[in-house]
Amino acid sequence: MDEIRITGLTVFANHGVLPEETALGQKFLVSLVLRKPLRRAALNGELSGTVNYAEACAFTSQFLRGNTFALIESAAEALAAALLERYDIESAAVELKKPWAPIGLPLECVSVRIERSWHTAYIALGSNLGDREAHLRGAVGALAAAEGCRVGKVSSFIVTPPYGGVEQGDFLNGCLELRTRLEPGELLGLLHSIEAAAGRERLVRWGPRTLDLDIIFYDSLVLDSGELTIPHPDMANRRFVLAPLAEIAPYLRHPLTGRTVQEMLHTVEGSARGPSCAWMHSAAQGPRE
Ligand code: ATP
Ligand code: CA
Ligand code: CA
Repeated sequence: MDEIRITGLTVFANHGVLPEETALGQKFLVSLVLRKPLRRAALNGELSGTVNYAEACAFTSQFLRGNTFALIESAAEALAAALLERYDIESAAVELKKPWAPIGLPLECVSVRIERSWHTAYIALGSNLGDREAHLRGAVGALAAAEGCRVGKVSSFIVTPPYGGVEQGDFLNGCLELRTRLEPGELLGLLHSIEAAAGRERLVRWGPRTLDLDIIFYDSLVLDSGELTIPHPDMANRRFVLAPLAEIAPYLRHPLTGRTVQEMLHTVEGSARGPSCAWMHSAAQGPRE
């Protein structure tokens, strides 16, 4: 991907663990690599299609002078997050150098370099207890309001029969596209907290629930950590996941099988027995973006 690079911006600021570092301040050298497609801006000559590097330098300098962090790791992390929020960019690499690090020994400089990105996740939503629609809409709202998250397309909500053999009421299911700065484990923690706020209890496996939020895809990541499996291991067998997902991302491919959402849906529908899902109504917000 195309890059905008800013190298060696000098900022006098007060980050550090030692009292004299926070009291007196010292010199920092900042380098940034901001990734975004630049071809259109290049061909049109439009500043609005790129990042104004004078403005980005002024913002970076002000950010590092206006906040104090004990660790340059924390300063770099917070600056990367602020850059990703402020500019229309895919990723931000931040390098912070401390040429005057007071360690009592001569050194050229100490530095950290991190890279942070926006990711695209697909979240499946389900509810079959209480006001199902309110629970799903509440989850969409909670994700839209969460730090480091932007809700993209939202599917219709569909009524589906229960899955997994437990006698219970029909579900309302949907899917949404989420742009997020959160890492997969952090995203799972956020989903759990939103479920808990909706009164989710885990009494019976695949039993009734006010709200269930599952990570179906996270970029093209393949992960099995015990706590978290991505892509969701049973998604290809679930019409209640694939039907709403096909509405917002029909051509998305499973990173392991290479099959599109639409192909997986056709397979499940071809082999489906029993009652099919009834389309309920379009979500007020979606599909959109
Ligand atoms: P299923 O995962 O088969 O749909 P469920 O949603 O009813 O079942 P839960 O009780 O909600 O299961 O979740 C159990 C655990 O599954 C969670 O605590 C979480 O650690 C783990 N898990 C693993 N992979 C995922 C994923 N992709 N999305 C959400 N949770 C996951
Ligand atoms: Ca689930
Ligand atoms: Ca779940």
